[in-house]
Amino acid sequence: MLPYLTNHFGNPSSTHRYGVEARYAVEKARRRIAKLLSLPNPDWAIFTSGATEANNLYLRGIVELRRRGGVACHLLSAATEHKAVLDPLKEAANAPGVELTLVTPDSEGRVTSSELVDHLRAETALVSLMLANNEIGTIQAVPEIAAAVRERSAAMIHCDAVQAAGKLPLHFPSLGVDAITLSAHKFHGPKGIGLLVCDPDKALAPLLSGGGQERNLRAGTENVAGIVGMAKALELAIEELEELNTRLVPLRERLWASIASHCPGAVRNSPSEGSLPELLNVSLPGFEGSRLVQALDERGFAVSAGSACASSQSTGSHVVLAISGGDEARTRGALRIGLGRDTGWAQIEGFAPALAGILAERDS
Ligand code: PLP
Repeated sequence: MLPYLTNHFGNPSSTHRYGVEARYAVEKARRRIAKLLSLPNPDWAIFTSGATEANNLYLRGIVELRRRGGVACHLLSAATEHKAVLDPLKEAANAPGVELTLVTPDSEGRVTSSELVDHLRAETALVSLMLANNEIGTIQAVPEIAAAVRERSAAMIHCDAVQAAGKLPLHFPSLGVDAITLSAHKFHGPKGIGLLVCDPDKALAPLLSGGGQERNLRAGTENVAGIVGMAKALELAIEELEELNTRLVPLRERLWASIASHCPGAVRNSPSEGSLPELLNVSLPGFEGSRLVQALDERGFAVSAGSACASSQSTGSHVVLAISGGDEARTRGALRIGLGRDTGWAQIEGFAPALAGILAERDS
């Protein structure tokens, strides 16, 4: 990234040599990402400021076109999606003629294809389902669900693949969806750069108008260094993926065993099968997750109570609330523990005793 923050400072839309140099870097990154994700064409990769924008662009873009055409529109998604999907869908559903159905997943966070297709209607325009949950790690059977939707409906299918990218093999055609979204910071790339993958020739109303960049879908000068960084980070993450996942599963399982033995009453929110190796979500009912986060931070453990993006909200995790059947104590006491390439056995062994010490202090 450094050359594009220093010497190669051109604007990719400029036609002089500095601009051409920057354009070359952007298009090279686009081709690299297209190859890594097996996209039909590099033009399907549309750079945005992050996954919030990419989700908004696709979801709002589809609804807006229908709305302008006066076509009634039904949207279908799940209660455990990230807020960057739920909020644009809810806002879209405030408009007349637009309706939203959110299915509640089972206690492991899974949506079944039979349940989802039951909610399809003739006017369903959009189905949105994430590939892996960012709070509890549940991997959704997206290819199977997408195939079931396709059999019965012409709805566009969107998949927030943000938490899965760099952690699961990601082959776009195998997902069977129309669009996916990614965010570079989820795979050790820079923050503030993301990606919408979709067919740029299929109509979508852009969120922004202006310079016409990204095939008129995302106006504004490209974040050249961010784009270059995202492509490289994705390449590295995919290279390391298998080895990292193999290493993390025993760490995660040991962490849970140790929490279960040191902290009686702890509940595991992340499934042990069919979930991302790097996430363990547990609840300590009767305790306040946000307070535990603070106390753990003082002892050198950086965890969160839910999604980092919602940390400033005190309502607790909407994901744990949905999978626990509305159990408020379990929701308030949720901790999202992320493991990664820098997590080692010493941290795993030290965590539960530190947590138990905090719980004992709070109890006394
Ligand atoms: N979707 C999921 C599943 C996420 O975890 C996040 C947050 O990291 C987002 C969307 C939003 O991404 P960004 O922060 O790049 O806007």
